[in-house]
Amino acid sequence: MNVESRYQPLFEPVKIGPVTAKNRFYQVPHCTGMGHALPRTLAAMRGMKAEGGWGVVCTEYCSIHETSDDQPYPFASIWDDGDLANLAALADQVHAHGALAGIELWHGGSLVSNLASRLPTLGVRSMPGRADPVQSQPMDRRDIRALRQWHRAAAARAKRAGFDIIYVYPTHGYLLSEFLSRGLNGRTDEYGGTLENRVRLVRELIEETRETVGDRCAVAVRFSADGHGDAHLSGDEARDVLAMLGDLPDLWDLVVSDYYGEEMATSRFVQEASLEAKVAYAKRITRKPVVSVGRFTSPDTMLRQVRSGILDFIGAARPSIADPFLPTKIREGRLDDIRECIGCNVCYSYNYRGAAIRCTQNPTMGEEWRRGWHPERVTEGDGSSVLIVGAGPAGLEAAHILGKRGYTVTLADAAGEPGGRVTLESRLPGLAEWARVRDYRLGQIKAMPRVSMYLGSPLAAADVREIGADHVLIATGARWRRDGVGRWNATPLPALRAESTLTPDDLMRGAQARGNVTVFDDDHYYMGPVLACLLAKSGAIVTYVTTEGKAGQWSQYTGEQERTQQQMLELGIEIIVSTNIDGFDGECVTLACTYTGRSHRRAASTLVLATSREPCDELYRELVGPDGESPVVGIQRIGDCRQPALIAHAVYAGHRAARELGEPIERLTARRDRSVI
Ligand code: ADP
Ligand code: SF4
Repeated sequence: MNVESRYQPLFEPVKIGPVTAKNRFYQVPHCTGMGHALPRTLAAMRGMKAEGGWGVVCTEYCSIHETSDDQPYPFASIWDDGDLANLAALADQVHAHGALAGIELWHGGSLVSNLASRLPTLGVRSMPGRADPVQSQPMDRRDIRALRQWHRAAAARAKRAGFDIIYVYPTHGYLLSEFLSRGLNGRTDEYGGTLENRVRLVRELIEETRETVGDRCAVAVRFSADGHGDAHLSGDEARDVLAMLGDLPDLWDLVVSDYYGEEMATSRFVQEASLEAKVAYAKRITRKPVVSVGRFTSPDTMLRQVRSGILDFIGAARPSIADPFLPTKIREGRLDDIRECIGCNVCYSYNYRGAAIRCTQNPTMGEEWRRGWHPERVTEGDGSSVLIVGAGPAGLEAAHILGKRGYTVTLADAAGEPGGRVTLESRLPGLAEWARVRDYRLGQIKAMPRVSMYLGSPLAAADVREIGADHVLIATGARWRRDGVGRWNATPLPALRAESTLTPDDLMRGAQARGNVTVFDDDHYYMGPVLACLLAKSGAIVTYVTTEGKAGQWSQYTGEQERTQQQMLELGIEIIVSTNIDGFDGECVTLACTYTGRSHRRAASTLVLATSREPCDELYRELVGPDGESPVVGIQRIGDCRQPALIAHAVYAGHRAARELGEPIERLTARRDRSVI
């Protein structure tokens, strides 16, 4: 059996009410940080998924009315005909490749703050929102009638915009889940009390959406298969809701109650297909098709979901971001070409920074319209020679794209193995999947005869000159600082006992630390917490000190903060927040409160500093000389040696340098997506 026919069941058409998806690959709604603000960017990105073979491509959460605005996060909206026109462009691009377009109609209820519209937020009762010190207005019957009208109007607009699948969205804590909640919904009318009453509004919206658009569009419901926690909607009640509504919608899009801990969890905490046990029962209750997610990247896992009758559609957000062409690659049997999601949630984090989506694995994500980047196609180069120094994520990605463009590439690395920081970091607890960043690129390069890689090859400036390549890319990375300089400390800490101070690089290269270890985290992302866990697991007594208010504070954006802190506490790590380090003498660290400056000493035999990194740019600087004017033709530095940042930044930098090499200047200008008066 060849690969293609083996996975054939994944390419069967599936009927969803009045429409038919051409295959089982379903891009579920996912936020993009583009929404209403960047309509051309969004349309091109969704269109790319359709081009890559997804049978269904959905929008993100799409507000039905100005009483639901999620500013500063760039949500989608379908409030008026202007929104309709923008969304129609998206639906057109999805249709151009034979996919169905889905739209997730949404009302945020009490969770949002309406920072833009300044209208009161609406809730099943008055309660505080997610982020701001404002409470919602309790909805009366008139408000409910208005909501139903807004939903109808939004559905009608969505149909006019060309959408094929229209969602009713009673989950993720938004307005309709407030109505479902036993704890929150204290209404004494027909919308409160019994489960049947609490479901009434959802039922009405499904029925009214069908009445409004059901002749041509399917109605989908996104629902949490195991409820919303016992205080709100227990697992048993969720089953009852599914049974009550059973065949009313045309499709069930199932999620689970634990959003950050499970549904959207990173690969540090959750593996592929993790929702299976909680959603599998649904197919026994409804005859309608079911889609669910599970960060599916393995075609065999996908096949099993379908064959064993768990799912009709393979739902994906992140795998479709990392590889918009995943379905095409499976269909063509090009499994080694799949760019597998690493489960880092960098894509998700930027929505919560108010910026357009990006992806660690797929540097073209979000750049389809602005820079015209295609995830699979590049322009032909002139075949000249390029030397790349450093085979970390930046160097590997540059080699991959330059090789694809037909350049003759020499890739040299001082280390005995490729991958740079990715190789080192992927050995840390929970980060194994990050090695996919390296492995995908190595796999691609292997098939390129004009790309040669030399490991164990430290290059000095003289070597670079001697090699005499037409272009040189320096991708020599960054090193963690040993002197305490970071966000909080602008100058080196004066009293550090160097012999007992370790950096993340030391630990990743095998240094051991026993006894009382203090990990100082002034970086605020994963490195400090992950190292603290590594040390605790190896038997050290670990104290974690951070200048922020929580462990791994920035990882709130990747949705990992809670699990991070929970994991550390479970490992017995003491967490000290809002605290700086003033000194370390090998026996004690001096800790200082970031608010009062009050200090005290604590026993510590080793201090680990996860503060900041400095670029390893010595080679670059030697080659370009003091004024940055290089005698070496076409030299650039890329990745961490230019700007220490996330792995996603390094991959992007490598990609951009490789894509733009030798291109005429007019092709290098990025377009700006904005409204112009
Ligand atoms: P990035 O994230 O920017 O790709 P990394 O730190 O992951 O950076 O990788 C940088 C790589 O560069 C490392 O594998 C390192 O061994 C290599 N390197 C650094 N300096 C030299 C040099 N002078 N010659 C060859 N390789 C080097
Ligand atoms: Fe996957 Fe990370 Fe890309 Fe998101 S950013 S799609 S989690 S690889």
